Amino acid sequence: MFGVWTTGVDAEARDRAGTAQANAANDAAAPQPGRAGPRVTLLQHRVVPYESLEDIAKRYGVTVEELKAWNRILKGKVLKAGWNLKIRARIVAPPRKKTTYTVAYGDTWGEIATRFNVPEGDLHRWNPKVARQFRAGQRLTVYTNPKPRNIIAVSAKGEPKAPEEEFAENDEPLPKFDVPGGGVSIGSPNRGRLSGGVQLPDSDLYTVRRPEESWGSSHTILQLQTAIADFRRDSGYAGELLIGAISLEHGGRFRPHRSHQSGRDVDIRLPKRSGASRKSDSQNDIDWGASWQLIQSFAETGEVEYIFLDYNRQKRLLEAAKDAGATRSEIEKMIQYPRGRSKNAGIVRHAEGHLIHIHVRIKCPQTQARCET
Ligand SMILES: [Zn+2]
Repeated sequence: MFGVWTTGVDAEARDRAGTAQANAANDAAAPQPGRAGPRVTLLQHRVVPYESLEDIAKRYGVTVEELKAWNRILKGKVLKAGWNLKIRARIVAPPRKKTTYTVAYGDTWGEIATRFNVPEGDLHRWNPKVARQFRAGQRLTVYTNPKPRNIIAVSAKGEPKAPEEEFAENDEPLPKFDVPGGGVSIGSPNRGRLSGGVQLPDSDLYTVRRPEESWGSSHTILQLQTAIADFRRDSGYAGELLIGAISLEHGGRFRPHRSHQSGRDVDIRLPKRSGASRKSDSQNDIDWGASWQLIQSFAETGEVEYIFLDYNRQKRLLEAAKDAGATRSEIEKMIQYPRGRSKNAGIVRHAEGHLIHIHVRIKCPQTQARCET
């Protein structure tokens, strides 16, 4: 969603100052071409679905006019998810948030630091009374950061250098997936079938639980692989990602599922915390930060209709989104909670029984006229 490389400002000290970042946000001074101030951070923001220029401007303490001046692509066009915007941020959004983490059995300092995307040294400094050999159940103070994405360079003085090249080169491309065409959805997910279905291939990116239940439309298989590759690249999550039911080879009735009939529905087990048992069903063993990133990677394809998750688990997801620095309007666009389980809002919607897995429904592609929503 965004990449950050600070210019050496003492972030911890800034937190203690408390309102420094908020004040910076109100400072709408015009940028000085060629002379970035010491606090300016050159970064790249990847636009997510439904995000507005106002959202982005507020997040980095800049104005909409500035965004337009720095990004020619915005001239006369509607903002599109996936675009990378160049930003000379006055604040490194969002402000860090203080949280408490309870050490689980088998955790290491390094793993916890990685999970929260903070330097391990900082973790020690925030917790001077906790021994290096800690025990499960001990509580650690953590100041969370958003996960960095698309990290770009900035000179030591905070002066952006050759932004065009920097922006272009540091965005590691996703692998290209070679998906056979001709896999077509016919009818609706609850009453439909699959013609020329494509079987999800084996991959290092994920684990296929049952190949005979893993057939989809060409469109679905491509979006699925792309989203997971994006998730792996941006989250660094190294645990197993288990793909459950998609559809049968020719689609149609697929018990015990009600949908999954037209090659557009994919069940994915939520990523687990490292060290959690493979068999565990506990929501405490789910890596909610990684889950939020996985859901974002799917949303960023722009080809997801819904992501079903039991309403009783959506609060955990929302908390993870906040920890990751999502703004309120981003969260509202993504998650139905807390507006009620039958409210028509958000991409993430309630569906009974989706407690440790999500069910992703891919949109009908425009080229498939017989695909029904
Ligand atoms: Zn399902």
